[in-house]
Amino acid sequence: MRRTLGLLLVSLAGFACDAVPVVSGAESHAPPRAAPPPVPPTPTLLSAVVVGPARHPLDGVDRNGLLALVRAEPKRLGSISIGRANRGSLYNGVQMPESSHWRLVDPDRSWATQETIDSLTLAIQAVVREHPRAPTLALGDMSKPRGGYFRPHRSHQSGRDVDLGYYYLEGPAWYKTADAATLDRELTWSLVKALLTQGSVEYLFIDNSVQELLEEYALTVEPDRSWVHELFHPPAKHESVVRHVAGHKTHMHVRFYSDQACETSKRAYPLLARFGRI
Ligand SMILES: [Zn+2]
Repeated sequence: MRRTLGLLLVSLAGFACDAVPVVSGAESHAPPRAAPPPVPPTPTLLSAVVVGPARHPLDGVDRNGLLALVRAEPKRLGSISIGRANRGSLYNGVQMPESSHWRLVDPDRSWATQETIDSLTLAIQAVVREHPRAPTLALGDMSKPRGGYFRPHRSHQSGRDVDLGYYYLEGPAWYKTADAATLDRELTWSLVKALLTQGSVEYLFIDNSVQELLEEYALTVEPDRSWVHELFHPPAKHESVVRHVAGHKTHMHVRFYSDQACETSKRAYPLLARFGRI
């Protein structure tokens, strides 16, 4: 639904500033002059601002256009996250690229939607920008090339889940227990914060014991302590993005939204199924 915020009248008069720098030793001894009369504010007319949802690549493509894409150029549909993360599949999945900043534990299980790949890449790049000497981060299971069930996971089926390593004080490691002696709290908090602030994460599973270490560190560096507190101690009946689930002392599980890939599924799935593409 589109909403029009309307025309905004903004007065800039309140921001007028005519302060004169004072030069030491040059104070005037002239009698004070009367203040000039106040200047009435002049309204500035801004153009209308229209706020709406982001455009989807298939916006404007009618049924015949969609049919042609499905039959002849299904690659152009982009990534499609089909069904639920614990009962679904992935179409036009994208493999996480190799990088000196991360290591794929199993490249054949490192497939996801384009949005998941992009969000994950941006988050790790943010850590590296802030900490250029960050060690290589281990990336565990994502999805299979075409999604679906694989052991030992219940989810990880539709290109929206990633098992992500923690940063450790003693360098790169995979599936190592994170505790007060091993966890690099500064780098791991940097990663968690980068994921959270993108707005593309539905939730993170992190063991309570690791959450305590991250909260303790975050409270020492974040200016907004109430945000940190609510992140780890949500109000009653509210669920935080960061959640405790047993089994996540050795890695965190990230569920991304992938809005575009889910929307493409809604629009294209019936035709993909009809023409045997999936
Ligand atoms: Zn997982």
